[in-house]
Amino acid sequence: MPPSTPPPPATSVPDIRIPAGLLPADGRFGSGPSKVRTEAVAALAAEAPRLLGTSHRQAPVRGLVGRVRAGLRQLWDLPEGHQVVLGNGGSTVFWDVAAASLIAERSQHLVFGEFGAKFADAAGSAPHLEAPVRVEADPGATPPHPVPPMPGEEVDVYALTHNETSTGVCAPISRPPWANHGELVVVDATSGAGVLGWEPGDVDAYYFAPQKVFAAEGGLWVAVLSPAALARAEELRGAGDQRGAGGRWVPASLDLARAAEESRSDQTLNTPAVSTLFLFVHQLEWVLANGGSEFAAGRSRRSAGVLYGWAEASPYARPFVSDAGARSPVVGTVDLDQSVPAATVCAVLRANGVLDTEPYRKLGRNQLRIGMFPAVDPEDVEALTACVDHVVGRL
Ligand SMILES: *Cc1c(COP(=O)(O)O)cnc(C)c1O
Repeated sequence: MPPSTPPPPATSVPDIRIPAGLLPADGRFGSGPSKVRTEAVAALAAEAPRLLGTSHRQAPVRGLVGRVRAGLRQLWDLPEGHQVVLGNGGSTVFWDVAAASLIAERSQHLVFGEFGAKFADAAGSAPHLEAPVRVEADPGATPPHPVPPMPGEEVDVYALTHNETSTGVCAPISRPPWANHGELVVVDATSGAGVLGWEPGDVDAYYFAPQKVFAAEGGLWVAVLSPAALARAEELRGAGDQRGAGGRWVPASLDLARAAEESRSDQTLNTPAVSTLFLFVHQLEWVLANGGSEFAAGRSRRSAGVLYGWAEASPYARPFVSDAGARSPVVGTVDLDQSVPAATVCAVLRANGVLDTEPYRKLGRNQLRIGMFPAVDPEDVEALTACVDHVVGRL
């Protein structure tokens, strides 16, 4: 469809006005991109003349990269040999980075939603890799655990997902006890990093993008790498002359060892979005100034308590994830009775300025999906539940 085609008329959206007193102070509940704090945008506008449109090789922008690296090191109390590395392209590009620079021959993927499946597909389409092993669970069910590989199907990467954004299922992260022959644990933490707990000793690559918990714009990937992951990236590209000395061809944009070199001097391989870096630093330092991980996790847990508590008490709603321990504190999924059309509820909310409560498209459920990242005020989640009750009562 050409971009000039107008959307179909929204005649099917009932004209329900939510009273101003019920509305949340901020109506953004997206699961990524997610709410960017207004204070951060104001700070960006104030700094803009000295920052936006200036060289990323000079001190002001390199200083932002340095603050991201130092701030994350502080947030997670990273051990000495771990390195924070940044590159362009978001988590989706990091899947290709991992296929080029982390997986030697074969990976095992825990697949319990769309994002885990996408990484497995990326590894499966790489011509230099063996077919990946998928360990699957149904969307919304308790997530699967890694399994010991079959003889002849040894794997050198275990690919885990910390928070499956498509379903609102979160999973504990640990190193498989049998994986003590140099296998890497690679974790997609895109929507969980900064709220969910993890131990650096259990993970070799913990990667994410800043448009979820870190309340910035998209476009970057960030990875916390263990010494073993850094060594694997060096080893796979061989001598670094791109074709030889036993190494595989690794394009510069997917070369994790190269990105690590750039990051050591607070740079990226090519030009990053400066506003993304700025907003990321602003959120990270806001979290650190207020108490760090406990503060961030506390806000999301409070929001999640409100949302799931409301759903459990509601006559027409229930949490989609029945295993309470697997319910995400950052992305809440709530099924509605078939008699209550979620698409209409979301459309009415949207018409009233309450945005992005729609479920993940491909899941195809009669559902609301609510982003409850630390930037979202728990009181606004409370207001949102009152708005849904108001709308449903008038359908
Ligand atoms: C959002 C998301 C991604 C994709 O991130 P991009 O930066 O848009 O590529 C991947 N994995 C998970 C778990 C996500 O939530």
